Amino acid sequence: MLNLCRTRHNVESANKGRQLAAGGGARYIFHLSWRDAPGIISKSDPLVMKIDAIHRQPHKKRGMGVAPALSHRASAAAEAPARLLPGGFDEVNKKYTGPGDAPPGQSIVNGTFKFAYLNLNLIFWGNEWSAPSPPVPYASIVAAVQNIRSGTYLHGLAQYGFINAWVNKVFVIGGDPPNPFTNANVQGFVYGLIDNETLPEPDEETYYLRQLHVVFTPSYSAFVQPNPARPINGYHSFFAWNDYDLGDIDNSDTYYAWIQNNGTLNGIAQTFSHELVEAITDPDGSGLQVVPSNPTNWNEIGDVCQTAAVINGVNVQSYWSQADQACIIPTYIPPPPPPQVDKNTQLQIISIRKYYSSYINKHYIAFVGAIDHLGSFWALSRSEVMDLIQFNGNTFIVKGADGSQSNVVVESHFITTTADTSREDNLLSLPTF
Ligand SMILES: [Zn+2]
Repeated sequence: MLNLCRTRHNVESANKGRQLAAGGGARYIFHLSWRDAPGIISKSDPLVMKIDAIHRQPHKKRGMGVAPALSHRASAAAEAPARLLPGGFDEVNKKYTGPGDAPPGQSIVNGTFKFAYLNLNLIFWGNEWSAPSPPVPYASIVAAVQNIRSGTYLHGLAQYGFINAWVNKVFVIGGDPPNPFTNANVQGFVYGLIDNETLPEPDEETYYLRQLHVVFTPSYSAFVQPNPARPINGYHSFFAWNDYDLGDIDNSDTYYAWIQNNGTLNGIAQTFSHELVEAITDPDGSGLQVVPSNPTNWNEIGDVCQTAAVINGVNVQSYWSQADQACIIPTYIPPPPPPQVDKNTQLQIISIRKYYSSYINKHYIAFVGAIDHLGSFWALSRSEVMDLIQFNGNTFIVKGADGSQSNVVVESHFITTTADTSREDNLLSLPTF
């Protein structure tokens, strides 16, 4: 269950079963169920969580986490040891040491409130998103978000307790934000969407699967920069949802972010990635910060790193990894290309493996073991031998104990030795492996 993030199951239902004990320390038992790629439904062992340990934190001071202006691109990379992933891919936390990337030796303030599971609501605010040719179509942003959340990028957050994130819903909402806009404008917009029940009220979320409302602004609306010397591209924070409808008195926190639109997918994706890792690890300022932490201008894992790189086709920003003591972007390492037999060389077949075909009612040679001109051993399938003969200029020979030698030839779609007087150099005389 805990490796949901690597296997990318979709949790289909979460069943908050029965309450075990009432009062301030309410405990709930529940199951998660999910469906894997072949469509098989699995169910977790019962999970018991203490409900108030996670999100009741009164008297939080309002603060913010921001994305600074977009910076330079990737350059240097020193790599940590690779981890082996299913499917033969290795993954490495690629380290970055460019300008603005914090050096080793940082300390963190590691608070308890972070997101382990997160649902993202992507909200495209403005008439531009439904216009014929916006600078960046919203669908390409959704694709970039899916890429970021499903790829390796977030894997470096496992050390901080993060498990997985999903895209919950996508909204395209006409009517333009002010230009320039303020943070209060975005907050009011999100508040209105909760109030009109477009977005869920925070107490309709499950506490272990929180929601982050991410607002993407149109390219013609710029943020009112409080400090033009340090311009802000993105922002994440929270506000308390107060709703005094009859019988429904709420006072819970709602988490949101906004991403300024510079008219390029690279810029939007980079800012989004920055805000995402920060919102996950420091949703309300009481989670994870890098020393010197700040109660209002949160100094978060994206703020101490500047280098961005295109990973898996999407431009993302590096973030601080305490385990690596570096700014990192987790990255797949493609498997090395398989070794190749040298062109136009001769190999001696020394052993065979036979398979039985019920269609031709015969055994046939499925694999051969061969020694090349360098003395290297190759286990080759029948079709590989045929390809090497036909496309790589190789010849294969069989030597008999009596000193005889014959060539291997392709006959139809089988391999065989040329007929001669000795049986010793026959393929079928060779030992099996
Ligand atoms: Zn930030």
